[in-house]
Amino acid sequence: MPLEITRLHLASLQVGDRRWPVHGFVVTHPGGAVLVDTGVGGPQEALDDWRVVNRSVADALAELDMTPADIGLVINTHLHFDHCGQNSVFRHAPHYVQRAELSRAQREDPELCGWFDFMNARWELLDGVAEVLPGLEVVATPGHTEGHQCVVVRGDGAEFDLLIGDAAYTPRLYADPDLAGDQLPPGQARRPGLA
Ligand SMILES: [Zn+2]
Repeated sequence: MPLEITRLHLASLQVGDRRWPVHGFVVTHPGGAVLVDTGVGGPQEALDDWRVVNRSVADALAELDMTPADIGLVINTHLHFDHCGQNSVFRHAPHYVQRAELSRAQREDPELCGWFDFMNARWELLDGVAEVLPGLEVVATPGHTEGHQCVVVRGDGAEFDLLIGDAAYTPRLYADPDLAGDQLPPGQARRPGLA
């Protein structure tokens, strides 16, 4: 049975003069469901700065007739506040991140730690490529952050879907990062040397 991917709309942020969506993805498999990224959470100051219009991940899951308890495993592409902000809703589940990303976030974003590195958080720390479940893999894609990872969802045959997190914000940028020029917020995908 192929894995199925459903996109969740979790929030929007103000970036320059545009609103950017925040997504999570539910990947259902024969044994249950995986959530890739948990949406926005963090200190009020951060929510104000980004003019966040937020949703609870539980509400978003309810639209799929699911509850947080149905999520058996969480993958964070990275630990920015719009990708791991509601991790604590899934205390029952292991959270798969790159080891390099957890150390980066603890070092660079200590004020956010309470949102993802809460007591008894069940980390599964990865070093590079890893198979999380049959047909579901992560690949380390440092750039946007030091420990960023993308998620590969394999279909039948050679087909696969790639959940790219913030490795690039749009398909155009993914195809040609040079198009971005100076228009991108700090840390967004750039080729080495262009920072
Ligand atoms: Zn990010």
